[in-house]
Amino acid sequence: ESLRIVLSYLWAQLIPRPAPRNFADWVKGKFGARLFQIFFEGYTEKLWGIPCTEISADWAARRIKGLSLGEAIRKALGWNRGLVKSLIDQFQFPRLGSGQLYEKMQEFLLAEGQKVWLNTEVIALRHEGSRIVKLQLRNLQDGSETWVSPSHVISSIPLTVLVQSLQELPPPEVLQAARNLKFRNTVLVYLIVEGSQLFPDNWLYINDPTVQVGRVTNFANWSPAMLPNREQTPLCCEYWCNFGDPLWQAPEEQLLALAERELRQIGLLQGQKISGGFVVRLPRTYPIYTGSYKEDLAILRRYLGQFENLQLVGRYGSFKYNNQDHSLLMGLLAAENVLRPGSHDLWQVNSDSDYQEEIKVPPAPAKVRR
Ligand SMILES: Cc1cc2nc3c(=O)[nH]c(=O)nc-3n(C[C@H](O)[C@H](O)[C@H](O)COP(=O)(O)OP(=O)(O)OC[C@H]3O[C@@H](n4cnc5c(N)ncnc54)[C@H](O)[C@@H]3O)c2cc1C
Repeated sequence: ESLRIVLSYLWAQLIPRPAPRNFADWVKGKFGARLFQIFFEGYTEKLWGIPCTEISADWAARRIKGLSLGEAIRKALGWNRGLVKSLIDQFQFPRLGSGQLYEKMQEFLLAEGQKVWLNTEVIALRHEGSRIVKLQLRNLQDGSETWVSPSHVISSIPLTVLVQSLQELPPPEVLQAARNLKFRNTVLVYLIVEGSQLFPDNWLYINDPTVQVGRVTNFANWSPAMLPNREQTPLCCEYWCNFGDPLWQAPEEQLLALAERELRQIGLLQGQKISGGFVVRLPRTYPIYTGSYKEDLAILRRYLGQFENLQLVGRYGSFKYNNQDHSLLMGLLAAENVLRPGSHDLWQVNSDSDYQEEIKVPPAPAKVRR
């Protein structure tokens, strides 16, 4: 298999593809057809629900540009001094999970006398001239609604939802562009496994096309402080789907049974018992880079750009396939724009493919533990 991979890689290097037309072209050009098939194709098609030939090459450029077969082999042989970030095996992580970052921000805001409304949804944004003048809020616990007058709006509402929440509604071509942009949904199926040290990885990407599960996260290996005890391990199985798909509607018992069956099938679970589980459905988790998305996004950017006190941030808010770091960075830069208007162009964050995974990092200091 290794020989096949290397030969197919060399073939791809001998006959380079000048302008990859889609994701499949891009990956085959960079890694060879064999690696594309066994490492990228199954996972990618599960994630996006469309053939790799219909996914924009931009997506690959943004997400995996820094990784190369040469780097991976050098890493495996222990030859590289700096490391590509996607190949590191140590990193720092908040003890109780990444939510701690936001809890800390909340603490800081409250200490500064700011208000933070949780469980509150913005259901309408009223505009006048070039400003957003009022926001309609709905309390998700008691259903009560109020209006507030913001000086600035930094929105992480999914872009397509934001556009449809504007009062007055935008012109028809803008609404049509918003309807054209599509997100993919995630269904998280958590299984509580009776047992510990199931496997050493933080997460595993499941390329096997005979199962639907696309990624499995083992929280025990992120931070043991997140575990209730040492006898049980929570595993999270990720499934992706669209709103109309049966998976999105499937009852919880069915999803729990599916995840258990699939983990046994691929050997991540052997004899261990499952003592419980639950399902979390997350709508609009992945902006889909396909079709006319660039043109549609440009229409929305142009239209929303007229509002001087509105900034769009985050993966969903700006329809940008960010990770958490870039989403946080957009929020921080947006805050600086409030203090010093025009300091940063948020659209430039993570847009030049200068993605974290291609940055070389120095070897981790010895004191950083897993
Ligand atoms: C299962 C899973 C695993 C992931 N793992 C990683 C990982 O390991 N590393 C990594 O870097 N990234 C990871 N990501 C991606 C990361 O979570 C996102 O990129 C990041 O959270 C995006 O930040 P954001 O601010 O855009 O969105 P969010 O963090 O989702 O914040 C958006 C906020 O806006 C709020 N909101 C939306 N609409 C409204 C409204 N109308 N009114 C009021 N509030 C609203 C939401 O409630 C939410 O709090 C993962 C994502 C998922 C789903």
